[in-house]
Amino acid sequence: MLERTLVLIKPDAVQRGLVGEIISRFERIGLILDEMKLLIPDEQIVKKHYPDDLNWLRNAGGKTIETYQKFQLNLMDDLGTVDVIEIGKIIRKWLIQHLTSGPTIAMILSGNHAVEVTRKIVGSTIPLFAELGTIRGDFSIDSPDYSTPQKRVLMNLVHASESLSEANREINLWF
Ligand code: UDP
Ligand code: MG
Repeated sequence: MLERTLVLIKPDAVQRGLVGEIISRFERIGLILDEMKLLIPDEQIVKKHYPDDLNWLRNAGGKTIETYQKFQLNLMDDLGTVDVIEIGKIIRKWLIQHLTSGPTIAMILSGNHAVEVTRKIVGSTIPLFAELGTIRGDFSIDSPDYSTPQKRVLMNLVHASESLSEANREINLWF
């Protein structure tokens, strides 16, 4: 099942000098680097990449809410709202600020089940809970209860498409 997927090495990873380390993890499992470029993304492309769509907002906002519940913290104190969509919108705004803040690498990886394999190597969204051995689990300990009071997104180093349809859309957007 040959697939292509899109990966971004976000500004936090580029600033930390982790580009080589991250690319080597994709290479060593056998994924093929088809295309790669370094750019400072403009607001337009990031807004299209993270669309203003209810499912996306609900999913992103839900991760912060779950973490606050887990640690019995009060989101109202830090964000002034407990509405999942409103929280998703705040995260989207911070994401746009982060992705446009400095050099980012965009790449296309291909291989057998490339979408799923790439997500497995990247690890789950919240670095504190991401498995050791994954990029997010090995190189970050960030979590929403730490990042939200600082009014910024999670520093989780990479983006990887979540499905084949998301991959196709994102490849067309960035390349
Ligand atoms: N994000 C965040 N806090 C959250 C949820 C998401 O800072 O509670 C940021 C984080 O940088 C994440 C991005 O928004 O990588 C996109 O969220 P998504 O749910 O799509 O996670 P991903 O697909 O990157 O694992
Ligand atoms: Mg995603």
